[in-house]
Amino acid sequence: MSDLRDLYQEIILEHSKQPRNYRAIPAANHKAEGYNPLCGDHFTVYLTLEGDTIRDVSFEGSGCAISKASASMMTQALKGKSRADAEELFEKFHKLVTGHAESNGAESLGKLAAFSGVSEFPVRVKCATLAWHTLQAALKGEQEAVSTE
Ligand code: ZN
Repeated sequence: MSDLRDLYQEIILEHSKQPRNYRAIPAANHKAEGYNPLCGDHFTVYLTLEGDTIRDVSFEGSGCAISKASASMMTQALKGKSRADAEELFEKFHKLVTGHAESNGAESLGKLAAFSGVSEFPVRVKCATLAWHTLQAALKGEQEAVSTE
C-alpha cells in the first residue's frame, strides 16, 4: 500500500509541475472561473463543446500542487467525452476524494485514483475538486465565478 501511495504522490507532483492542457482556448464556447479562497487556488477552465461532446478542454491559473494536478488530469480524462460522461466521472471522483468511493470506484477512475489519499485531508477536498466544480459551471454556461465557500 505504501508503494501505491508513493506512486500516487509522484503522479500528482509530476502533473503539478508540468500541467497538461495548461493554456487558454481563445475560441472556447464555454468558460468559467473558480476560486478556493481557503487555499488561494484560482483557475479558469475553457471548454469547446461540440453538440454534446467535449472537443477540447484546458485551464489556466494558479494553485497548490493538488488543485493543479487535479485540473491537469481532469482535462486529460475529459477530452472527447460527452457531457454525461463528464458528470458521471465527477460524481465518482467526488466520492473518491470524500472517502465515499465504492469498492471498485478507484479502478474505474484510472489515473485519477491518485487522489484517493485526499479523503484523509478534508481541507484538501476543495483543492482537488475546484477544477471540476469550475468545469460544471462552464458546462452550464454560468458566467459568475464559482467559489468553494
Ligand atoms: Zn489548494
